[in-house]
Amino acid sequence: MTTRYVAAIDQGTSSTRCIIYDRGGVMVSMAQRKHTQYFPEPGWVEHDALEIWHLVERLIPAALASGGIDPSELVGLGITNQRETTVIWDRTTGIPLHRAIVWQDTRTSEMVESLREQGIGADVERRTGAPLSNYFSAPRLRWLLDACPGSRAAAAAGTVLFGTMDSWLVWNLTGGVHGGLHITDPTNASRTMLMNIETAQWDPRLLEIFDIPAQILPEIRPSLSKVGATVTPVPGIPISAMIGDQQAALVGQTALRAGESKYTLGTGGFLLFNTGTTLVRSRHGLITTVAFQMDGQPIRYALEGTNPTAGALVEWIRENLGIIDTAAEIETLATTVDDNGGCYIVPAFSGLHAPHWVSASRGLIVGLTSYITRGHLARAALETNAFAARSMVAALNDDLAAAGVDMSLTELVVDGGMTANNTLMQTIADICDVTVKRPQMAEAVALGAAYAAGFSVGLWTDEQQLRRNWHTGAVWKPGIDPADRSRRVANWSMAVDLASQWDP
Ligand code: ADP
Repeated sequence: MTTRYVAAIDQGTSSTRCIIYDRGGVMVSMAQRKHTQYFPEPGWVEHDALEIWHLVERLIPAALASGGIDPSELVGLGITNQRETTVIWDRTTGIPLHRAIVWQDTRTSEMVESLREQGIGADVERRTGAPLSNYFSAPRLRWLLDACPGSRAAAAAGTVLFGTMDSWLVWNLTGGVHGGLHITDPTNASRTMLMNIETAQWDPRLLEIFDIPAQILPEIRPSLSKVGATVTPVPGIPISAMIGDQQAALVGQTALRAGESKYTLGTGGFLLFNTGTTLVRSRHGLITTVAFQMDGQPIRYALEGTNPTAGALVEWIRENLGIIDTAAEIETLATTVDDNGGCYIVPAFSGLHAPHWVSASRGLIVGLTSYITRGHLARAALETNAFAARSMVAALNDDLAAAGVDMSLTELVVDGGMTANNTLMQTIADICDVTVKRPQMAEAVALGAAYAAGFSVGLWTDEQQLRRNWHTGAVWKPGIDPADRSRRVANWSMAVDLASQWDP
């Protein structure tokens, strides 16, 4: 019998990977490449979508070759991606009209403010499940259509297409200018601010608000569905799942049922709590989002808390302050001191998310005295993630209680690059006052895309098969004095309030 494998393309914020897994969920081969980050102005972040596609073209054959796997042994391919990143391209040439505007980008904050002043915030939130914010794709798409001459007319004529990175990659993989499929899934569509969260369809009123021609939008297909086969770079691989990266991590952690959750700490920090077929709305600025949709089944929902600047702060410290050479060194530096020395960092590089949602706000460091060393800064940079997690958990449990659903978050199941940092994991347990659990396989995004792709084609037929692959790697229990916790949480909250008022 031939061996059957499933592949995932994980198109992340900083890099793209192609990973091949066997039926036991074990990674058998991986190829990975970073792409260029463009910061053309303060608050602007861009990627070259063509550079990313050219990487994918090389990564698929590279992963197959390094695992000694024949393409015919791949039964499915799952695409997962950085969400909300926005690209428009010409379907006749395959060339993007502009660099992709990345989810961290804040250039549309004034546009969003002027929309808010028109009093449409509540209507947008009711339709999308998310607070009106520059975090989502719609304002970026409008910005692109305004910035690229002739694009609006070309969009109306059907020659310019919009996509998040899933759509862009699938269009290219399925033939591009020679008839590529222009599709997306409800997890990605729910992040555009153009999809109605109840119907999982594009919402005409939202298109009107953001002045978006309907012809530019991809078709929404279930996250787990057999959409077609690749044409290039390796023909004939069945594409069987498309799913946003945080929702993929939820699947990778096998948080498939209502009441299960995961907290991913990579470039950003994202807590997703699966609410099943129940759509729970937040009173605290959490986002109601699509968890996933299986072909022929109802939408599964999640409540989500976002912190856009988690590992991104570590990267900033490494690249711009130069006090560490590698991300891992932040832990070594942080453990040269016993505490933060009274220093707190609010890394609002992309504005403040829940519960404040101030797009224009910027980050700050407070509590500086001549006592503060690099070690205290490193510790404050880690601790800010624990405080952010605590406010998400509190908001989530409050929202769940208010909705009258019999669910709550009692432990944090973590994954992502930052979870290698044991000091941070202990701090999260201490500050959130919950148990933190890290699986042996702490790379859940690509795994989730592979699970989705494999499930979709029947490589796995029962979720228990996936759950059996989940093994506890490490556990941290809360261990600090409650008074100490309260004092630090209060200080951090004051710092966030200061950041929310910062309006130069
Ligand atoms: P993404 O998928 O968002 O690109 P990853 O899950 O690969 O991110 O995680 C990478 C991020 O984690 C980077 O921002 C990096 O700075 C951070 N990181 C990696 N290792 C550590 C560590 N030991 N301590 C703190 N941060 C880390």
